[in-house]
Amino acid sequence: MSRFWSPVVHDLTPYVPGEQPRISQLVKLNTNENPYPPSPRVQAAIAAANVDSLRLYPDPESSALRASIAGYYGVAAEQVFVGNGSDEVLALVFQALLQHEAPLLFPDISYSFYPVYCKLYGIAYRTVPLDADFAIDPASYQQPCGGIIFPNPNAPTGRLLSRAAIEAMLQQHPDTVVVVDEAYVDFGGDSMIPLVAQYPNLLVVQTLSKSRSLAGLRVGLAVGNAELIAGLTRVKNSFNSYPLDRLAQAGAQAAFEDDAYFQVCRERVIASREALVAGLAALGFAVLPSAANFVFARHPAHDAARLAACLRQRNIIVRHFQQPRIEQFLRISIGTAAECQLLLSALADIL
Ligand code: PMP
Repeated sequence: MSRFWSPVVHDLTPYVPGEQPRISQLVKLNTNENPYPPSPRVQAAIAAANVDSLRLYPDPESSALRASIAGYYGVAAEQVFVGNGSDEVLALVFQALLQHEAPLLFPDISYSFYPVYCKLYGIAYRTVPLDADFAIDPASYQQPCGGIIFPNPNAPTGRLLSRAAIEAMLQQHPDTVVVVDEAYVDFGGDSMIPLVAQYPNLLVVQTLSKSRSLAGLRVGLAVGNAELIAGLTRVKNSFNSYPLDRLAQAGAQAAFEDDAYFQVCRERVIASREALVAGLAALGFAVLPSAANFVFARHPAHDAARLAACLRQRNIIVRHFQQPRIEQFLRISIGTAAECQLLLSALADIL
């Protein structure tokens, strides 16, 4: 605490970096990274970015990368925004695109950074409880608001909201931005990007951290109407002048140019998830239906905090949230088939 800090800074509860294990020693199933390496083309592109080129500033507009992403999704480059991870993209969305007269709506339970951004940027918000089955209830979003944001599939539940429900929200709120955070969409959902042509109030945010195995490169993106993208660019160029660095631009572009690799990785993760869900169910866990690269599960007879601690003793890290309503759940990221098997064997031993 310091007398020099603004009151906003006093009230923050900053992120405490989680354990950063030596990956070889631990089965790391706590932060939803991809268990497979990025496409070999990413490595080649980064290696090819001549070290001498690092003398020069990167392209502030990330033009080549944005053109690749636009081609991939069948939109115009003016409809694509990129940032250093989707967390940065989201920070700019909160600053640029939300009305301040009415509260922003988002689910309770959801991605923990949304309230943080609201507090940091002085944005009013109202949380909307999930229904009894931990799903987003679209009917409860029929209220005046300054914007809506939710992950689809939701985090940490993994549950998916239908396209029809999202379209209904977009139609009910034609004058406010509806942000669909698709960090996990490639593992089982349909992207809403095709709806961007029809709904000028839709902004879709994605990341290369999960399905493209590039959490360490820090690349996120948004696709929306050119007017929304221009708003983000305006804030970025006034306030946050940091473009993606040269290596990130080159690597991310290569990732979008290797769709075959992406599809294989994605399908492997989905297959491991289905096997893990079956294995957990056989051990007596109740598992929420997941469209993501993690599952959210609880055991009716075993305390989640104890299970997480016992797994940790066996060098397996999963995520446990000390949060009302979900404190008996574990969120388990999908690892390789072998890692999932290690987890199931450890749990069988613990229970
Ligand atoms: N949105 C959601 C729902 C997430 O879970 C995450 C990752 N924790 C992010 C955004 C941010 O991911 P990144 O900054 O790595 O793109």
